Amino acid sequence: MSQKVRTRMAPSPTGEYHVGHIATLLKNYAWAKHNGGDFILRIEDTDQVRKVDGAVEKILSVIKDYGLDWDEGPEKGGPFGPYVQSERLEIYKEAAQQLLDNDQAYYCFATPEELTELRDRQRAEKLPPKYDGRYREYPKEEALKRVAAGEPYVIRLKVPKDVTVTFTDLLRGGISVESSNVDDQVLMKSDGFPTYHLAVIVDDHAMGITHVLRGEEWISSTPKHVLIYKAFGWEPPIYAHIPVFLSPDGKGKMSKRKGTVSAQSFLDSGYLPEALLNFFMILGWAHPDQKEILTLDEYIKYFDPKDISSKSVVFDVQKLQWLNGVYIRNLTDEELLDRLQPFIPADCSQEKAKEILPLIKERMATLSDFEAHTSFFYRNVTIDKEILTKKSTPEIVQEQLEETSHAMSNLESWSEEKLEEAIRSLQQNKDWKTKQYFMMLRYVVSGSAATPPLFSMISVLGKKLVLERLSAARAIL
Ligand code: GLU
Repeated sequence: MSQKVRTRMAPSPTGEYHVGHIATLLKNYAWAKHNGGDFILRIEDTDQVRKVDGAVEKILSVIKDYGLDWDEGPEKGGPFGPYVQSERLEIYKEAAQQLLDNDQAYYCFATPEELTELRDRQRAEKLPPKYDGRYREYPKEEALKRVAAGEPYVIRLKVPKDVTVTFTDLLRGGISVESSNVDDQVLMKSDGFPTYHLAVIVDDHAMGITHVLRGEEWISSTPKHVLIYKAFGWEPPIYAHIPVFLSPDGKGKMSKRKGTVSAQSFLDSGYLPEALLNFFMILGWAHPDQKEILTLDEYIKYFDPKDISSKSVVFDVQKLQWLNGVYIRNLTDEELLDRLQPFIPADCSQEKAKEILPLIKERMATLSDFEAHTSFFYRNVTIDKEILTKKSTPEIVQEQLEETSHAMSNLESWSEEKLEEAIRSLQQNKDWKTKQYFMMLRYVVSGSAATPPLFSMISVLGKKLVLERLSAARAIL
């Protein structure tokens, strides 16, 4: 490829950034890097009605929190700036003027009421909603007079009649659409802002974008885009439309209604960004050796958009949890403690957290699991008599607790090894049922049946607390 590969992601600040956006951004990023090219970030904020305050800042920060970055764009600048569409209005105005001058576009004065009436009529006649071209042949001098008089107008593309619009999608091959099915779309709105369709083409062209990898939901816009490129006499980029994720329940697309889709919320619930990126890499794409744990560099080396599956894949949360667990266990205890900071509850001291960590690392799927796995180390536990005496009798359990307290009180060292030695020999000497006794002991010291290994847990809990819990349990018998 002689031309330098330039890809882009073009978020609209209309709300939360989704995991699907990050997954698509990652692909654009990787393809640029694979080819030694550039990845551009551009803010598409021409929809003044749907624009949400503060959304741009959030999008930029979540992209960075996922460990990704851009070569040109907001905060960084670059040779093709500005990279925020609302700062490029003059450029779109000139571009629209160029199309008007070449008779590829025209002024339309249809009022919103007229257009609603048209749509209602079409609906009643069971016709697809479509602009009827009522100003397509309107005399230019008349139009200019009305514009000069300050009448509101939009500028529409004069879609050529009876041509076949063709483009190639890297995942799907050739796609053709008859121009009779394409609306004379609005390029400039009455508020002087361009539509997404005009702005995206003007900018992708001006910024030298060679490949557009974007969500499948844009595929129906692509024929319109190709027509706009034609009207300007420009070459369109290469397109790949990425299938949307299917909801983990297997029923349809992943959506806000069915659970969270926000990119930020996955970080907030304790998924590591590198695990999330790895997950996005292998959703709908496979490494040549089917390797599942991949660094960003390995992905960049092998990724090619044409290998992305054209079928939607399920956002498999269990797989994500597994991957996250792998990444958690690959961290050193110090690194993990550092990552855990936002998830450590206020009543757990740093020293305690540090001591507990090696005991639970194996079982953590997300960082937010910390509290559920560890609260009995620093919070009171409640013991239920029925569970306490399960598979035994109150008398036997009373004796077991008494003897255990005694043996523990006499211990010189509270090390895991010494504890294990003393408790195991007590159990053997007394001939207590192994399973019942150890389950009971686990329950008494933790209030739970699922815990870290018994002796290391008792050791970290500390002598004082363990003896207190043993005597509290005796009191309820
Ligand atoms: N601004 C569009 C969006 O919000 C960009 C679509 C595209 O990539 O062309 O997703």
